[in-house]
Amino acid sequence: RTVYVNGEYLPETEATVSIFDRGFLMADGVYEVTSVLDGKLIDFDGHLARLERSLTELDMDKPDQFDELLEIHRELVRLNGIEEGMIYLQVTRGAPGDRDFAFPDAETTRPTLVLFTQNKPGLADSPAAKTGIKVIAIDDIRWGRRDIKTVQLLYPSMGKMMAKKAGCDDAWMVEDGFVTEGTSNNAYIVKGGRIITRQLSNDILHGITRAAVLRFAREAQMEVEERPFTIEEAQEADEAFVTSASTFVFPVIEVDGVTLGDGTPGPVARRLREIYLDESRKSAV
Ligand code: PLP
Repeated sequence: RTVYVNGEYLPETEATVSIFDRGFLMADGVYEVTSVLDGKLIDFDGHLARLERSLTELDMDKPDQFDELLEIHRELVRLNGIEEGMIYLQVTRGAPGDRDFAFPDAETTRPTLVLFTQNKPGLADSPAAKTGIKVIAIDDIRWGRRDIKTVQLLYPSMGKMMAKKAGCDDAWMVEDGFVTEGTSNNAYIVKGGRIITRQLSNDILHGITRAAVLRFAREAQMEVEERPFTIEEAQEADEAFVTSASTFVFPVIEVDGVTLGDGTPGPVARRLREIYLDESRKSAV
């Protein structure tokens, strides 16, 4: 596989980053994951805009190649022959010569930029989209700026492992009695045809797929209510689903041990998946 590091396309075995990199030492970095369908990038503009916002919120410089990111994404897709899959991008505050809590001087330390592809044939046709997924509930003990897409992913990783241990697929995190989001996706329930999902704030990541799905839902005259909901409310819902760049829309068929409806993907989730895939393929770049 060919990867990209700070201006160079390299075989993955030759790509290196300093041990002093603040991404490695302090999780001082942000990332984006963009899907590829038919060899094209899905929702690229949204991911680029959120990357810029994450950098601004952390007072981190843009990488020197920021304005070339579309070409870099396209070149990696081409070099690796990706038809369906993902591109992972990470920017860190770079590698000063020493470890220090204070941010390094922007004159001497430039951000580190890394991109690599993940080939996922069949991404749009995933079995989980047909069967639906099961989620458990766990406490949300993450930091208070979940709107910034940082590489601090230890707790979400632990949540995923707790779900696996419980024979489930993912975890919905709960804070002050209300669901925030999934470990790596935004969470929704459907009641009487109305789509309910937590409103945007610093408590959740502002999902790029969320924005698109809610726009398509409104365009299709579906009702959308942006407010927090509880696990109990989810367990009594007609259906539920999650969205993310790497899964698009996945129906949820079980919430913390309670089966929703007849235990099969609901019509709203299935329809939104179809609309999202159709529309985002059309606008892919
Ligand atoms: N919420 C969290 C915590 C995530 O990690 C992700 C994606 O990785 C999402 C939501 C979904 O965001 P997007 O649709 O931009 O992939």
